[in-house]
Amino acid sequence: MYGINCTGLMPVFRRLFAGRAVIVMFHEIQRDFRRELMTGTSVDLFKYSLEWLQRHEWKIVSLDECLEALSRNKPNAPRYAVITFDDGYRDLRSAALPLLEQNNAPFLVYVPTAALTRNMKSWWIGLREVFRRENQVTIDPMDAKFACSDFRSKRAGLNAAIQWVHKDYRRAALLEHTFHRYGISLPALNDAYFLNERELQALSRHPLASIGAHTTSHAALSTLDPSFARAELEDNRKYLETLLEFPVRHLAYPYGGAGACGPREYRLAEQAGFSTAVTTRKGHLGDVNLNPFALPRIGVGCHLEARMSFEANVSGVHAAAQALLFQRGAAVL
Ligand SMILES: [Zn+2]
Repeated sequence: MYGINCTGLMPVFRRLFAGRAVIVMFHEIQRDFRRELMTGTSVDLFKYSLEWLQRHEWKIVSLDECLEALSRNKPNAPRYAVITFDDGYRDLRSAALPLLEQNNAPFLVYVPTAALTRNMKSWWIGLREVFRRENQVTIDPMDAKFACSDFRSKRAGLNAAIQWVHKDYRRAALLEHTFHRYGISLPALNDAYFLNERELQALSRHPLASIGAHTTSHAALSTLDPSFARAELEDNRKYLETLLEFPVRHLAYPYGGAGACGPREYRLAEQAGFSTAVTTRKGHLGDVNLNPFALPRIGVGCHLEARMSFEANVSGVHAAAQALLFQRGAAVL
């Protein structure tokens, strides 16, 4: 990967291209990374990421503090990093929290109602379970059969199935029969993997924690009619505010890419009364023309992202490398 090749140039690129602030996105922080088919962030990489940010003088702050500092636009202000977690996985409390506490790092957790109430169609967890358990997997709506008796083929099969859903989120509903065939219970998996209401209430009282919205059902909002999309936002917000007894002002769009949210969703988020909304589009928080309802983030720890990639993303090396190669007329990476 070009991130690794460019690391020798990183100090130069960092000065030239680094943004003033970045929102970092995590999902699961996995103690047994391999058992989970390397789908989240390992505890080691999470620890490394926090320490790297501190070492390179990215001040870890809450989203509110970050945006307020950016709006003051002071010269010589420090660089800011905001730590976010999507979906409300249970390992946030067991694996990530001790490290967040050690680093005195504020964090923001975006939680869909259905994770807490256990009726989320968490197809990505269901697929992982199928591939983990089975040595042969048939997914009829994909018209695909996978021979997956070893780790490598399990990961490859899982990745193919996940990508298939990402191409059209309505496909997730077609997996019900597959889950039934392999005896997968999504409510049971939700119970195993996601915080429950009581646990989220306790976490929300932690001095470093903030809680944000992530829709009712974890739907790709752009696939819904406007009234349903609006209800996904408003109902989740009301639910969390009732459960936690404080205002919920920040939102993360489920999936967060171009296939899941766009200008219509940005308007809906604003109309629903949120102060900010984050996407999964990669980028720093620029100083100008920042749409608070379409904030970019940098994801850490999908299985393809190694330490070098994290460093390169945060310090702006990817943008720099692309600009440089473009100037030289090199092939697109
Ligand atoms: Zn999510």
